[in-house]
Amino acid sequence: MIRVLLAEDDIAISEPLARAFRREGYDVTVRADGAEALKAAKDNPDLVVLDLGLPTMDGLEVCRRLRAEGRTAPVLILTARADEVDTVVGLDAGADDYVTKPFRLAELLARVRALLRRGVTGTVEEEGGIRIDAQARRAYKNDEELQLTAKEFDLLRVLVREQGKVVSREQLMREVWETQWFGSTKTLDMHVSVLRRKLGDDATRPRFISTVRGVGFRFERLDA
Ligand code: CA
Repeated sequence: MIRVLLAEDDIAISEPLARAFRREGYDVTVRADGAEALKAAKDNPDLVVLDLGLPTMDGLEVCRRLRAEGRTAPVLILTARADEVDTVVGLDAGADDYVTKPFRLAELLARVRALLRRGVTGTVEEEGGIRIDAQARRAYKNDEELQLTAKEFDLLRVLVREQGKVVSREQLMREVWETQWFGSTKTLDMHVSVLRRKLGDDATRPRFISTVRGVGFRFERLDA
């Protein structure tokens, strides 16, 4: 289930928004305070919707700290002031998108969907762990950058996002190659094989990417 952290102190906004998210099937956590939102983000939500004007710590600072902690979930900023937006999205705060208040619910939900499609979750920070920076489109193993092609990166991103779960060949073809599945997934197998090699994985005893016969692939949870 997709988990959304909503940080907004105005109940007139957070309540209908949380309801709308739940209707979309998201699991929503609401915080009305910046410091509390930062604390709640330790559960690694898939997306953060962040009001700029929050008590105890403003949204800008929350966003900076999230990134400083290495959290890669997309951040959507809510702001009443369009003139603040450049600072938030353009500069160093690390937000991904913004919506100015008052906003249309349908538009906000569309932006959230777009960010979730693009975004990545599941930062693995174990020894031998893989870290993905979705914004920069870079992947690291033990803080060493992996030299991946665009497709290899997308493949790894999807697998890591769904870590611990099997991702079907159909889904990978659709998400990574944006194509219908016509039966042959030789390209996919080839990419998985290269990706394994680059990760230092062994296909016969895979540590990262397991083959699930007749179904697809699974990125193993490493935090166990
Ligand atoms: Ca506010």
